[in-house]
Amino acid sequence: MNYKIAVLPGDGIGPEVVREAVSVLETVAGMHGFSVTTEEGLVGGASIDAYGKPLTDSVLRLAKESNAVLLGAMGGPKWDGLDYPVRPERALLGLRQELGLFANLRPVKLFSALAAASTLKREVVEGTDLLVVRELTGGIYFGQPKGVSRLPDGTERGVNTEVYTTPEIERIAVVAFEAARKRRKKLTSVDKANVLEATELWRKVVSRVHREKGYEDIHLEHMLVDNCAMQLIRDPKQFDVLVTTNMFGDILSDEAAMLTGSIGMLPSASLGGKVGMYEPVHGSAPDIAGEDKANPLATILTVALMLRHSLDQSQAAERIENAVEAVLNAGYRTIDIQEKDSRLVGCREMGRFVRERMAQL
Ligand code: NAD
Repeated sequence: MNYKIAVLPGDGIGPEVVREAVSVLETVAGMHGFSVTTEEGLVGGASIDAYGKPLTDSVLRLAKESNAVLLGAMGGPKWDGLDYPVRPERALLGLRQELGLFANLRPVKLFSALAAASTLKREVVEGTDLLVVRELTGGIYFGQPKGVSRLPDGTERGVNTEVYTTPEIERIAVVAFEAARKRRKKLTSVDKANVLEATELWRKVVSRVHREKGYEDIHLEHMLVDNCAMQLIRDPKQFDVLVTTNMFGDILSDEAAMLTGSIGMLPSASLGGKVGMYEPVHGSAPDIAGEDKANPLATILTVALMLRHSLDQSQAAERIENAVEAVLNAGYRTIDIQEKDSRLVGCREMGRFVRERMAQL
């Protein structure tokens, strides 16, 4: 089996962390009997410098013709003064739109070696391993009517519309059920069905997909969003996969991410179309770019997500995750997760340790 991967390193620390992640991908492929062909493209600021725009047609074509896209990060002070339509971050929106990526997956796994990094008590967060599936292209962020209008009495009125259709809910539910099937087979659908009609429909459709599309092996529960916000802090270990609307997902995924306490560790996937896009949650970190200080683990864990969700190589994904855990247990830390008595390593060295551990597992 050979997979074609579009590699878009971007700006700042993007090329540094992506280099280590690609090297991990190539190593794990050799261990699990498949191969990868990678092709690089410029996006973001790097593309602006070379071609005058953040996303070119040829990169878009490359992405569409690949099995998956691995993205680094985009942006930096050099391009901050540009007009909004030609800013580096526009490439991200362009790729999402063109690839039809309506589902955002953010796994939140606390490596026990990093439990002290969380603001919550160790006994609460230790063992946390959940996945937030957020609807990405619908709901109140896009619903019409929207806007601010002036009323006859001189005051103003602001409107946004929470709107979901049956097909939009069905397709995100299917992504979430499929993800749950590859994990611990539990799905929590989060809504506000007691107040919002749009999410009453959400609950109804998710239940119907569960019944009628062959997902009886998954345990489905429904939870109101206010309760969910509380439960995430009270007992995060009760969750396996959470699926929710665009706005609730926006808020809950940041809340859940903070259980781990560290942005340099968090991967994400955007799915929906034929091709999935995978990127670390962090940005281009211009303050440490080019200094071999960046933590490559978020991007390396992003490769594990790609293997699981786009390439159907879950054993290879597990090998990467176990190697990351082993390296952390051995006390190696990049500067962002450094602790007393840990051994400080750079980006390259961290990538090399992960590859070495993979060979020992
Ligand atoms: P950032 O995530 O780049 O950095 C925030 C802080 O975290 C910095 O101190 C940085 O050094 C540190 N950090 C981030 N990732 C790290 C890593 N892997 N290892 C070690 N330390 C790490 O956020 P920011 O500073 O707000 O944004 C910088 C640029 O990145 C901006 O131009 C922003 O628009 C862009 N950005 C891009 C994306 C993306 O491409 N998806 C996401 C967020 C921000």
